[in-house]
Amino acid sequence: MDFDLTDAQRDARQALRALLKRECPIEYVRECDEAERFPTELFAKLAAAGWLGLPIPEAYGGSGGTCFDLTLFLEELAGHFEAAANIYYTTIVIAADALTHFGSEQQKRSLLPRLARGELRFAFSLSEPGSGSDAASLRTRAVAEDDGWLINGQKMFCSCAQVADYILLMARTDTEAPKHDGITMFLLDPKTKGVERRRLKKLGLKPMDLNEIFLGDVRIPKDAVIGQVNRGWRNVLKTLDYERCCLSAVNVGAAQSTLDKAISYTAQREQFGQKIAQFQLTKAKLADMQMEIDAARLLLYRSAFLVDKGIPNPKESAMANLFSSETYVRAALNGMRLMGGWGYLMEYDMQRHFRDSKLAEIGGGTSEILRIVIARELGR
Ligand SMILES: Cc1cc2nc3c(=O)[nH]c(=O)nc-3n(C[C@H](O)[C@H](O)[C@H](O)COP(=O)(O)OP(=O)(O)OC[C@H]3O[C@@H](n4cnc5c(N)ncnc54)[C@H](O)[C@@H]3O)c2cc1C
Repeated sequence: MDFDLTDAQRDARQALRALLKRECPIEYVRECDEAERFPTELFAKLAAAGWLGLPIPEAYGGSGGTCFDLTLFLEELAGHFEAAANIYYTTIVIAADALTHFGSEQQKRSLLPRLARGELRFAFSLSEPGSGSDAASLRTRAVAEDDGWLINGQKMFCSCAQVADYILLMARTDTEAPKHDGITMFLLDPKTKGVERRRLKKLGLKPMDLNEIFLGDVRIPKDAVIGQVNRGWRNVLKTLDYERCCLSAVNVGAAQSTLDKAISYTAQREQFGQKIAQFQLTKAKLADMQMEIDAARLLLYRSAFLVDKGIPNPKESAMANLFSSETYVRAALNGMRLMGGWGYLMEYDMQRHFRDSKLAEIGGGTSEILRIVIARELGR
């Protein structure tokens, strides 16, 4: 494994850092968080600089970045603005991935270039009120009609559905087949008659909206299927390692940013006549935090390396995802601890990490489910 950055990767990272420093100052992050609003301006700048096309093949208007390229990008973006990195993953990466691997030529040609230019946003809707970890037991039903599909059901926890032009909707198309075999992925315009979105209030990641979706007699065209009918679960499984790398990259970037804030705070806060960074207990905490973040980063880079080699790595990607998410939550807890009462104030940024970090242990599979995946790969 060679984790040395190429000159192109180094230059790209420098350019991204400069863009984020200019377009995404901490005041902007705070403003989007407080107003619970989509960072439209930042995404326009990222689009103009070509960053939205990173996970999209060159043939369809993107720059065809590797998994490692995307990892470096998300780590950097999350270091500045974690919610923006989560939004990037949800509105761009999942769709780019699904369309590239399973979309028809017509879908790729009509959607991917617009996605790369920032003209389209997607959401992904798998979870339902009755199916979360056991996602394949979903019950939203799509029935084939002469000229299309009729959809009825209810979805839960759909991120970015308020800002999405399309939702990648997972629905059951065969009730007789084993649960994993009767699911299809659809392209749903959320403005279609019969679709109702309700925004949910939540703890953190405020700029990324979260929704419940009601589907009552929704009619969509026949060609709204992505991939094969009844084979939608394969769309989800095929790129799981890649997607876990993306989520881990967000965790690592955000955890490092948490630690950096703790370092600068403890370097200026004085108690008992000295900087609190001078206390050995503080030093030990900071050292442990950096060690864990570096370990998470190495797990992540190993998994990205394997993905780019085309080597399936469910165990390694699940380890990267699990360890990075728990590392981030611990970093946020320690950051709060190191700031005493000040960390509890909304005017400091640590509370945002404290609130935002928790989703890392839920969203891409809970810690329990990821441990089950790892143990399964160990033959347990
Ligand atoms: C902010 C946010 C954004 C989200 N965005 C999206 C999105 O865009 N699209 C989407 O489809 N979904 C999304 N989700 C849903 C997310 O994927 C689910 O919340 C997650 O998969 C867990 O499902 P659940 O919440 O129903 O919990 P449950 O599955 O009900 O789990 C509850 C508890 O039981 C444990 N548990 C479950 N099964 C087992 C087992 N076999 N062994 C041991 N313990 C077990 C879990 O680990 C957990 O601790 C989002 C969720 C949140 C909170």
